[in-house]
Amino acid sequence: MKFNIDDLPVVFPYDRIYPEQWEYMCDLKRTLDASGHCVLEMPSGTGKTVSLLSLIVSYQQFYPTKRKLIYCSRTVPEIEKALAELKRLMAYRIEHAETEEEKENERNFTGLGLTSRKNLCLHPEVSKEKKGRVVDARCRDLTSAAACEKGRANPGSVPLCDWHEGLNELEPGTQLGRGIWTLSDVEQHGREKGLCPYFAIRRMMPFVNVVIYSFHYLLDPKVAEQVSKELSKDSIVVFDEAHNIDNVCIESLSIDLTRPMLDSAARSVSRLGEKIEEIKVTDASKLQDEYAKLVEGLQEADAARDEDAFMSNPVLPDDLLKEAIPGNIRKAEHFVAFLKRFVEYLKTRMRVLHVVAETPLSFLQHLKDITFIERRPLKFCAERLQSLVRTLSLTQLDEYYALQKVASFATLVATYEKVGFLLILEPFETESSTVPNPIFHFTCLDPSLAIKPVFERFSSVVITSGTISPLDMYPKMLQFTPVVQETYAMTLSRNSFLPLIITRGSDQVAISSRFEVRNDPAVVRNFGSILIEYSKIVPDGIVAFFPSYLYMESIVAAWNDMGILNEVWKHKLIFVETPDANETSIALENYRRACDNGRGAILLSVARGKVSEGIDFDHNYGRAVIMFGVPYQYTESRILKARLEYLRDAYRIRESEFLGFDAMRNAAQCVGRVLRGKTDWGLMVFADKRFARSDKRAKLPRWINQYITDTAANLSTDMALVLSKLFMRTISQSSTENQTGISLWTLEDVLKAQEKRKASEIDMGMQAERDEEMDEDEYGDGGLPDEILAEMEVDP
Ligand code: SF4
Repeated sequence: MKFNIDDLPVVFPYDRIYPEQWEYMCDLKRTLDASGHCVLEMPSGTGKTVSLLSLIVSYQQFYPTKRKLIYCSRTVPEIEKALAELKRLMAYRIEHAETEEEKENERNFTGLGLTSRKNLCLHPEVSKEKKGRVVDARCRDLTSAAACEKGRANPGSVPLCDWHEGLNELEPGTQLGRGIWTLSDVEQHGREKGLCPYFAIRRMMPFVNVVIYSFHYLLDPKVAEQVSKELSKDSIVVFDEAHNIDNVCIESLSIDLTRPMLDSAARSVSRLGEKIEEIKVTDASKLQDEYAKLVEGLQEADAARDEDAFMSNPVLPDDLLKEAIPGNIRKAEHFVAFLKRFVEYLKTRMRVLHVVAETPLSFLQHLKDITFIERRPLKFCAERLQSLVRTLSLTQLDEYYALQKVASFATLVATYEKVGFLLILEPFETESSTVPNPIFHFTCLDPSLAIKPVFERFSSVVITSGTISPLDMYPKMLQFTPVVQETYAMTLSRNSFLPLIITRGSDQVAISSRFEVRNDPAVVRNFGSILIEYSKIVPDGIVAFFPSYLYMESIVAAWNDMGILNEVWKHKLIFVETPDANETSIALENYRRACDNGRGAILLSVARGKVSEGIDFDHNYGRAVIMFGVPYQYTESRILKARLEYLRDAYRIRESEFLGFDAMRNAAQCVGRVLRGKTDWGLMVFADKRFARSDKRAKLPRWINQYITDTAANLSTDMALVLSKLFMRTISQSSTENQTGISLWTLEDVLKAQEKRKASEIDMGMQAERDEEMDEDEYGDGGLPDEILAEMEVDP
């Protein structure tokens, strides 16, 4: 259907639209018009992606500025889904364009997605490697500027990648044709034409209208510098499924070093030393050239900072790159000696047997006192290493991985010396361990640091998700001011999901995962009986979530001893999520099989785990989700404690406020897994008395909270079962109600809504005018001049 939002003609690729989709698009348009940022919470399963794409593509096509869309999603399947949606939308737009010229304009619209080499590589041997970083390193050996130069000058002297070579014959911007390319389309095209899909996409990026990739390509400075540097400033940036964006930001600026990593880094440093000695004999001019260039500044030295960069700088801004490299690390052998000293220093620090927490400033001071290493050369460490790797034409770069980490660590610690970071050295893995296994955490405490460049560079950033309540938390944590901040209610002609809060068992004992009572046999038994009873009444799949692996293990062991698992097995099979990704995917596969063949199954999983984040349990794969306990984070973690302290001091976010928010966003994320569309249905059971508290409920997304009735907010197990049975009996009847006009709009309904909106805007405008007049009318005389008032004999 086609309709207008203000002056913008919007093409939506379906005949019907949900009211919340229309509202969402109106708010998006307002954000883009204002060239500002927004936070939007759209209920799960209400077509967020298609609404986003429809509005933004319409915007791009209508206005001559042709702003680029950078759409960030979390996982590869989600990226592929968004690309498929975009492809469908563009096919619809081409089909419904009115003139041939318009059709041609739509056909020229280009969009593609980017993922890692590991997912796209076609090389028969390289693609077999299991680890992403090994694929990257092997690919770099075959495609680095030095290898290509040598291989082309003297064919056969060094191995090159044929798929990469194939690309060089093509003009920039012609590696892929116009139109929308899903990742599998590009892969197939690569196979047919003998072109590398990864580099084809990378080289096409400056020429396309839409790029869809993962958060890291924008937020992680190490990757962003290589991939996203060229993107124009007026691009529209969207972070979809952004409820965990603060954690992604923090991870991208944090580094952990371990003892084995330092040993490996020390070996790499020695190898670098040997290589330098070798090259001094064979080709000393290379080192002299490098030295001369480093005097000019890194930018010059690194003129070839292109797609084959081994590592890029985690933080250095462009202006610093133009500076000369500090004299004491300019010479290759001096730099190697410098690295050696730094690694040795870190090793000595790791010998300490007590926990140390210090600021980067105090770390730098101590480093200087002991080793005379200054902050400035440390800051250039990552870039200097990159230059040396290039000069020495090193291969098998994955072996230098640990050294790369150490260099990034050095650069980060010297750049962020003041606020927002903390160094924590933990000598033992757990409190009870006696054998040291030290970890040096360089941890970022302030998520706004990683996202700051994005807000500064791009005028419109959209932060959106199905569960992003409370909305004001994100602007506070990420330090930005949104122009629109909105959460949408879910319109349904009949409830397709039923949220219930169970606060006590059938024996009236309160249930909770609170530390003091979590292992109380009465609580464990009550949790168990919820599982037994729901396994009896719910068809097909049930997903149960626990706050942590540790807690899940202890509960499952206790359930086994109490005979609860035996009881559950009578009705359904049980599968368990584990920290091992392979084990979990096998469990998931079998869980789905049991749901499909009618045997029915229960999947026991944890909040913040793989299952809770990226896996959908639509239709028969999830008819009920049970959240056992409130998924608070483990508050004894030193990193979390430091972060809480920072949030309190810097942003006035209280500890309890952040922990409550974090627990509820994860709980909402877990229960939201069952509802993936308006035709889907499911039960959402919150089993913990703390969920009934108003402060907790207020943190749930509006679209869930609106359906928690007073009756459903404080139930015992038996009462919850009665309501659940009733709900399932109702939902399994075919609906007699017509959704059209209520939760599904035709074009006519959209037009009506538009009229209504316009009228209310006019009303509001008139009211505002009247208010203004009233403000001016300080004597309450209607603003009439004194002479007239005198004639009218009105007493002012
Ligand atoms: S250039 Fe492409 S195909 Fe060749 S090794 Fe690298 S990623 Fe694989």
